[in-house]
Amino acid sequence: MMNCPECETDLDIEENEVDEGEVVSCPECGSDFEVITANPIELKPVDEEEYEEDDVKVEAEADDGDDS
Ligand SMILES: [Zn+2]
Repeated sequence: MMNCPECETDLDIEENEVDEGEVVSCPECGSDFEVITANPIELKPVDEEEYEEDDVKVEAEADDGDDS
């Protein structure tokens, strides 16, 4: 039995069902965890930082009031 480190939902995985390096997803919170060691199961949150989030929000500061 393994619980989600994030929301503690029962992930329903057994030690003999997963391999090291495998990624399991929590059906409840959607978090992905990589199996570091299979026996005992040790999970590491998968950082989904592969996609670049370089959304530069250009906030055009409209300075309309000329005299204030
Ligand atoms: Zn979870």
